[in-house]
Amino acid sequence: MVNRGFVVEMNSAIGPYSGGLRLHPSVNQSILKFLAFGQVFKNALTTMPLGGGAGGSDFDPKGKSDNEVMRFCQNFMTELYHHISPNTDIPTGDIGVGAREIGFLFGMYKKLSNQFTGALTGKGLNWGGSLIRPEAAGYGCVYFAAEMLSTRNMSLEGKTCLVSGSGNVAQHTAQKLIEMGAKVLTLSDSSGYIYDPEGIDTEKLAFVKNLKNIRRDRIKRYAEKYPAAVYTEADYGLGYNPLWSHRAVCAFPCATQNEINENDAYKLINNNIRLVCEGANMPCTPEAVDIFQDKQILYGPAKAANAGGIAVSGLEMVQNSQRLNWLAREVDDRLRIIMKGIHKTCLDVAEEYGTPGNYLNGANISGFVKVVEAMLDQGVV
Ligand code: NDP
Repeated sequence: MVNRGFVVEMNSAIGPYSGGLRLHPSVNQSILKFLAFGQVFKNALTTMPLGGGAGGSDFDPKGKSDNEVMRFCQNFMTELYHHISPNTDIPTGDIGVGAREIGFLFGMYKKLSNQFTGALTGKGLNWGGSLIRPEAAGYGCVYFAAEMLSTRNMSLEGKTCLVSGSGNVAQHTAQKLIEMGAKVLTLSDSSGYIYDPEGIDTEKLAFVKNLKNIRRDRIKRYAEKYPAAVYTEADYGLGYNPLWSHRAVCAFPCATQNEINENDAYKLINNNIRLVCEGANMPCTPEAVDIFQDKQILYGPAKAANAGGIAVSGLEMVQNSQRLNWLAREVDDRLRIIMKGIHKTCLDVAEEYGTPGNYLNGANISGFVKVVEAMLDQGVV
C-alpha cells in the first residue's frame, strides 16, 4: 500500500507557515489547498504572527493498530521534516491527527533533526504541549457563539444545540456548551449520528471521549449505552443530513467540509435556528451560507469561529520559546480574550465596509487586508 503525503505552504507574510495536518482517505491536494488558503486569513485574525499552510495524507488511521499508525507517522516524517521547523512551518492537528499522531510525528522529527524544538504543536503536556490546546478549537467556537448571541441579547443558557462530529472539535464544543448551560442533542461520526432528547451531559460526554479517544469505536455505541438516544445510520444518497432536521436554537457543525448543504440550511431555518457557528472548516456549502445570510441567521464562519485552535498553537509556540508552561486558567483566559477580539474585529470591519453584522465579510476582509499589507511592505520576492 502506498500513501500520498502533501505539504501546502500558502503564505508566510506575517509569520512561519502553520496549519493542520490531516490523515483521512479523502485527503488530496485540492482539499489541503482550501484548508491552507483559509488558514492564512484565520491565522491573521488571531493576531498571532503566523502564516498559513496545511498538510496531510490519504492514510486512513481508522481500524489501524497503534503500531501501524506509528510506522506511518514515522515514514511520513522522514519526508516532512525537510519542510518544517520552528521558524519555517509548524504543523498542528486536524482530522485524524490528535495527541497520539503528534507524539509519533514529534518523536521522529526529534530523531531526524537531533533537536528538541517546537516544530509541531498539540504536543503532550509532559513534552512541550500547552494546556487547553486540545480544547481550544471547540472552546473558542463556543466563546465566539456566545459573543454573537450577545449582540441579540441572548445567551447559551438553556439553548438546544445540534453538534456534528465526535472528534476533537465536537467533544470540546459540546463540553463548553454543557458548561455554559446549553443542551446538546446530537453527535455524529461518518457512520451515523445519535439524537439524545434528554441532552448529552458531562457523564455521557465522558463516555463519548473514552469511546472515541481510547476505544476508537463508533458513535452508535452511545445509543446502546443510553436507551433514550436514537441512532441513525448515515445515508449519503439522501441529499441532506437528518441530523440537521431536529429542532434546535443553535447548530455547531464540527465534523468536516460540506456537511450542511442548502437542503440542510432550509431544514434548520424551518426549525427556527438562530445561530450557526462553524467548528469544522467549511462545513457549510456556499449555497447554505447564502441562505443563512439572507435569513439574517447569526452565522460564524470557520476562519473566525474555530480560530481558537491555531491561536493556542501560537501560545504553545510562545511557551516553547520561553521554556515555560502556563497554567490552564492563563491559557483559557487568553483564548477567551482572543476570541472576543476576533468577534469585535469581524463586526467592526463588516460595519466599515458597509455590511453590518456580516461576520463572513468582516473575517475575510480583515484577514486579507493584514496579509496583503505585509506582502506589499515586503516587496516582490
Ligand atoms: P477528528 O478527527 O478528531 O474528528 C473528526 C470527526 O468528524 C469524527 O467524528 C469523524 O468521524 C467525522 N468525520 C470526518 N470526516 C468525515 C466525513 N467525510 N463525513 C462525516 N464525518 C466525518 O478531527 P477534528 O475534530 O480535529 O476536526 C474536525 C473539523 O474541525 C475539521 O474540519 C478540521 O479541519 C476542523 N478544525 C480542527 C482543529 C483542531 O485543532 N483539531 C482546529 C480548527 C478546525 P469518523 O471518526 O467516522 O471519521
